[in-house]
Amino acid sequence: MTVLFNNYGRRSVHLVKGKGTEVWDDKGKRYLDFTSGIAVLSLGHANSLLNEALQQQSEKLWHVSNLFESPEQEQLGASLVKDTHLAHALFCNSGAEANEAAIKLARKHTGKHHIITFEKSFHGRTYATMAATGQEKVKQGFGPLVEKFTTVPFNDVAALKAVADASVGAIMLEVIQGEGGVNAATPAFIQAINEVSAEHGILVIVDEVQTGIARTGKRYAFEHTALKPDIVSLAKGLGGGFPIGAILAQPALYDTLGPGSHGTTFGGNPLAVAVAQKVIDTVFEQEFLEQVQALSAYAKDQLSKKLPQFKVVGEGLLLGLDCGEPVAADYVKKAEAAGLLVVQAGTDVIRLVPPLTVTKAEIDEAISILQEL
Ligand SMILES: *Cc1c(COP(=O)(O)O)cnc(C)c1O
Repeated sequence: MTVLFNNYGRRSVHLVKGKGTEVWDDKGKRYLDFTSGIAVLSLGHANSLLNEALQQQSEKLWHVSNLFESPEQEQLGASLVKDTHLAHALFCNSGAEANEAAIKLARKHTGKHHIITFEKSFHGRTYATMAATGQEKVKQGFGPLVEKFTTVPFNDVAALKAVADASVGAIMLEVIQGEGGVNAATPAFIQAINEVSAEHGILVIVDEVQTGIARTGKRYAFEHTALKPDIVSLAKGLGGGFPIGAILAQPALYDTLGPGSHGTTFGGNPLAVAVAQKVIDTVFEQEFLEQVQALSAYAKDQLSKKLPQFKVVGEGLLLGLDCGEPVAADYVKKAEAAGLLVVQAGTDVIRLVPPLTVTKAEIDEAISILQEL
């Protein structure tokens, strides 16, 4: 027993230092970090650009209430929606909070409380986002849950069409399910979402907490699809390791949240915004996105050649090795002992989410470690 609650099932490694894709524990052992704090460290550990942005801001202003105007939040919001159909931003502190805001916005805008979500999805662990999550283990013991979420099988067009009617305010999905096993939505499913959304006036919320901010080789994963979401939620990679979340929304939703309707003390904190601006200025550059795509193509090619026993899934640098049976946890443990940090997605998939700044040599090293397990 320790002073800390036992809610994480923590691994027994104490990491004390990192640089780029490398991390070291308190005994001096080196690991390659293909977890990135679960898709958080977009630019790797201790990135000098981010260190500089954080330090400069820390000498000016640590915190200011959202009762005051913020040109810095304006600028970050503008950078996030630039060249998209989205127009407005609201900042918060985490993925669950971003999804809470998305759900509140959708309910208030439509006046409807019925929301469709999908099996194996993950949207967070607050009351509303837990109810939205399509995994029983996340909800056990915490009922009664927030009503009225209907969870249907992912990529099942008929199941979606059977429940999508005029009572539904929003459909909420990850276009690539991260926690649930690195499952991508099929083009036919995306088309069905667009159809029912147009037919019944249903809002589309895309949870990009894990897939957004260049993780999949585009700024947002919805850009790989025919979706034009009404609301997008962000967190994880946005702050490169500094906690920040956001929602983005299309113009028609602007008037729904008037003064006093929603807010949070720390949302869009100056330190977080300064770091996130630097992340976005870096990873939204076309050259950077192309580099992520090139690294992804290289990793996929090498993984499928050198580890043919697994099926390679995912997009960009959100990749998975599908073992076809629930053995991912064993591989995660063995990889750690061999100096490679990876994380499970569901029970069957080994998730590979290195920093977007990972090198080919580091990808090679990770694959050769996996080959030896
Ligand atoms: C991690 C994650 C969340 C929850 O984010 P927190 O910051 O842990 O609250 C929500 N949705 C998706 C898709 C995620 O991957």
